[in-house]
Formats: sequence, structure tokens, C-alpha cells
Amino acid sequence: MKTLFQNFCYQWDLRPSLKKPFSYEGWTYATDGRIMVRFPMIDGVEENKEAPSQKADEAFISFYKNLKWTEMPLLADTKCEYCEGRGFFILPMADGAVDKEECGECLDGFLAAWTMVEKKKIANNYLRKMKLLPDLKISPSSNEIFEPMPFTFHQEIGQGLIMPCKYGDGYE
Ligand SMILES: [Zn+2]
Repeated sequence: MKTLFQNFCYQWDLRPSLKKPFSYEGWTYATDGRIMVRFPMIDGVEENKEAPSQKADEAFISFYKNLKWTEMPLLADTKCEYCEGRGFFILPMADGAVDKEECGECLDGFLAAWTMVEKKKIANNYLRKMKLLPDLKISPSSNEIFEPMPFTFHQEIGQGLIMPCKYGDGYE
């Protein structure tokens, strides 16, 4: 689990406290600021005073609720629902002709960078990481589009939160 958790850590030098998993009050965490996982205390993972341990715990208290587990959706080759898979919008003109406008939410009608999970837009690079987790289930159905989406793994012992993309911001 420790090795698996390394996949969820921050990789760059900007936030050194997030480059390794850390333990806090009975849980071991890994996060890069966008995605966070935790599992009951993993052997050999120390506390880290520099890590945002309390904030991590608070995020689970705030967002890990109203859980309704479902299977992970298929990634990526789903068609864009904004333009119905066309890649562009058809705009009727006053004279009866039509104009086309690029969709901007997809590449040629396919969701290349993210997948819609109910109302939330989740980056595919994170969905691929989540698929590394055994027995993954997600709970997408909170009302707030920009609230983190809970997920669980390892027979609902492991817990996770993933931030949705902001609309129009690509990977943001
Ligand atoms: Zn589209």
C-alpha cells in the first residue's frame, strides 16, 4: 500500500511536504493537492510536521458524506455531451443558413482530457491513477459541481477525494 500511495503524491519540488505519504492520527495519507487518499496507518510511514495533516483530515470530515457508491465510469472515449459528439455547435442564422462553432469542451467530439462523472468533470490522468486502487468505487452524486468527489478502495477501508476540473479550464 505504501508503494501504491506513492502514485498519489506530488512529484515536483514546489511542495516538498507532499512528495511522500505521511501519517496522522491513525491514517496514512498521500496527496498532490488535487487528489487525496488515506488508509488506516501504513507501517513505516512517519508523521510529517510540514505536511498539511490537519487540513487533510478536515477535508474528509467536510466532503466524505452522502456517500452512494457506484462503479467507476469508462474513460475518455465517451462522446462529449455538450456538442453531442460533433465537436462543434450548429448555430442557426437569421437567413436560415447554419454556422458552426468549435465546441471547446472536447477534441473532435471526444472527451480527451477528462470524463464527465455525473455532474463532475474529472481529469482522465487522475481517473487512470484511481484505477490502480483495488476494488475502487466512487460517489459522484453531491450537488456541488466543484466539491471533491469521494471514492473508496480496498473493500471500503481506503478513502479518497478527487477535485473536479473547473469548467473551461482544461486540467484545472
Ligand atoms: Zn464537444
